[in-house]
Amino acid sequence: MTESLTELLHKAATTAAEFRAGLPERRVAAAADLDALRSAFTAPLPDSPTPPSEVVDELVRAAEPGITANAGPRFFGFVIGGGLPAATAADMLAIGWDQCAFNGVLAPAAIAAEETAAAWIKHLLGIPATASAGFVTGAQEANTVGLGAARHHVLATAGWDVERDGLIGAPRVRVVAGEERHATIDRALRVLGFGDSVLELVPADGNGAMDVAQLERVLADGEPGPLIVCLQAGNVNTGACDPIGEASDIVHRHGGWVHVDGAFGLWAAANPRTAHMVEGIEKADSWGCDAHKWLNVPYDSGFAFVSRPEVHAASMSHSAAYLTGSTEQVTGSSFVLGSSRRGRGFAVWAALRELGREGVADLVDRCCRHARHFAEVLTAGGARIVNDVVLNQVLVDVNADADAVAAAVREEGTCWLGATTWRGQRLLRISVSNYATTTADIERSAEAILRVAERVRAETAG
Ligand SMILES: *Cc1c(COP(=O)(O)O)cnc(C)c1O
Repeated sequence: MTESLTELLHKAATTAAEFRAGLPERRVAAAADLDALRSAFTAPLPDSPTPPSEVVDELVRAAEPGITANAGPRFFGFVIGGGLPAATAADMLAIGWDQCAFNGVLAPAAIAAEETAAAWIKHLLGIPATASAGFVTGAQEANTVGLGAARHHVLATAGWDVERDGLIGAPRVRVVAGEERHATIDRALRVLGFGDSVLELVPADGNGAMDVAQLERVLADGEPGPLIVCLQAGNVNTGACDPIGEASDIVHRHGGWVHVDGAFGLWAAANPRTAHMVEGIEKADSWGCDAHKWLNVPYDSGFAFVSRPEVHAASMSHSAAYLTGSTEQVTGSSFVLGSSRRGRGFAVWAALRELGREGVADLVDRCCRHARHFAEVLTAGGARIVNDVVLNQVLVDVNADADAVAAAVREEGTCWLGATTWRGQRLLRISVSNYATTTADIERSAEAILRVAERVRAETAG
């Protein structure tokens, strides 16, 4: 008996909805590990077809033990948001509609949703309304696109067409970044043909933000010429933001291009209580940001904004005779690395429509308050907070092997966190980025962390 597609999609939606409803009480780490999941999935390719509903049942059975509750309220590893209800439903629709968001001739609704969502985000983050936006897979792609636009602009200014002639024989480009930059900046520079060794690093202050006096020193210490400077909003360990306005003024005096990696930290701009951390954001030339982190849009979703749309398009666009609309329309895939891509704008539009300006401000503010409360409860329990908790990130010293404690906490199941190295020390690392996290979740998690840490200390001593 074959079921209709309607029944099949109902089944998938019901399964997903029951999973979501169970998140607040589900063990956070996956119940089974990768080896177990490999055993569950590994099989010879079947010779003959299987009815779709059996396929879906089989998938759920095989995958379920290996599903991590990172969409839930007590996942504090990496920087991972949940999925707001409207955004989750909109993404399911996007899959059903199956639009190819190449351009507005092919997918008018997908492009229009992106355009309105982009206008809203620029307004919320304080990015100039005239900036162009590419809807990308995440901040890694956004940083690559932003730095690609930077590469075009600084070389065009020096009389070199990098899209035509490449980097071999091109004028030398200086690329400067903070010592606390995210690893995706390095990868973007490798992909763009600059290589890691081009990087000139600027030391950071005590909480991991770029020191502008050091930036002045690095910039003064070199030849004038094509210059790109990468700033950061939201240090993945401490949450610190580089002084973007001040640093941008300095870079512009040297004729350089400013790219801001603001994967999660740019959202500080949307909350009046944290907006001062990213003051001067409008002065930068390109910005990378994520939707799947702090905006709580399902994976994968991010944005690349460029202050000069013509530079953005010149560095990224492609056309061919058969691509209807590609010469007259500079939209959609003109601003990203991909060509065919899913309609990412629907879920972003839905998240912003659901929250409104106040809802976004509240989401950011709530996560920051939770992070501070986490720090207070852990401190009261004898732990030491190592960073200045300026945003949603907390670094914790529990006076025990951080990797062993993090692994034991994940195993215990109440919450999920990882360990990191900060200034030479291994520490527990907490990121509060989920819209559904409550004060009770923070207290319950802090209690579990303190209890597990004590056990690990006792085991080590014994
Ligand atoms: C997460 C993150 C990235 C990479 O973003 P993806 O969404 O994983 O591509 C880049 N920079 C910073 C500061 C980040 O936090």
